[in-house]
Amino acid sequence: MRPNKTALLLVIGLTAMFTAATAFAGVRTITSRGKTYVTLSNLAAYYGMTITQPARNRIRMQNKYNKIEFQTESRSVWVNGILVALNEPVRKVGWSWAIDTTDFVKTIEPVSRPSEFLKTAGTRTVVLDPGHGGDDKGTSSPRNVHEKLIVLDVAKRVQAKLEARGINVALTRESDRDLDLDARCRKAAALRADILVSIHANSAGKKRDVRGAETFVLALPGRYSSNSYGGGAIPTSNNTGNRCDLANMVLGYRIQQNLIKATGQEDRGIKRARFEVLRDAPCPAALVEMAFLSNPKDEAIAIDPAGRDRIARGIADGITAYLSDVTRARTK
Ligand SMILES: [Zn+2]
Repeated sequence: MRPNKTALLLVIGLTAMFTAATAFAGVRTITSRGKTYVTLSNLAAYYGMTITQPARNRIRMQNKYNKIEFQTESRSVWVNGILVALNEPVRKVGWSWAIDTTDFVKTIEPVSRPSEFLKTAGTRTVVLDPGHGGDDKGTSSPRNVHEKLIVLDVAKRVQAKLEARGINVALTRESDRDLDLDARCRKAAALRADILVSIHANSAGKKRDVRGAETFVLALPGRYSSNSYGGGAIPTSNNTGNRCDLANMVLGYRIQQNLIKATGQEDRGIKRARFEVLRDAPCPAALVEMAFLSNPKDEAIAIDPAGRDRIARGIADGITAYLSDVTRARTK
């Protein structure tokens, strides 16, 4: 897909030019110390939502379509109950709680109004990428079940479910074999993928109590990834995958939302990272970490065929939901 990059750059450019309170894409922004913010009350007005404060550190806004709940001084926001990581914490700017303008544009907007941002996205070919393979076993569970085999099985189940719905699906690897990271994106490009979903399982090593599912989309240029706040240099240049920032977020959100619904797993949220398969993706892309093999409960789900089938249903439903968003966007 090719999102309307020119229009987006234009609005970002305009925001940068204004100081004081200005209107931006219909929402007022304020500037503080050279950064622009959208206050939560302006955001609620923009979406036609009522705003309440159900707890001292929670701000909830709601209309008949969506419920968005922010946690103050935190990067956590729940959109219709699904955790999404913001780039910057919700903070007080003057007297008002506010979010960074980039978080409004690249995170809250696509998950609140998905079909507004997918008009030029494609729906023809889904490429699934089972992580690791061959000598690269990925992580292993305490019972010595290897990630590479779990994710291949899940990918094949996702493929079967999508094909049953008439969707064209290809896999980057169909057997237990080595495949370089760059070969995965090259293959997706050669297959003219409209979506690339990389499938992995997680490990927290000896921290056996860590469990749940999380979905990654590509980190934004000049912004930290969710697991490296404050550390290291931040690449400011665009990666290939950044051409699809808005669609990436919709895809990641739909997958996480449906995965949690299908499995009832702990929701660890939609996060951002610079994994190579996301960086070089030729199309909207997400990377799913379906479960923690280091956690006994998650391991039980992953080694049970019925558990893997629920995970696969969640991923397939997420992809289908994204494709429906695209179809809706085109007929609008
Ligand atoms: Zn992995």
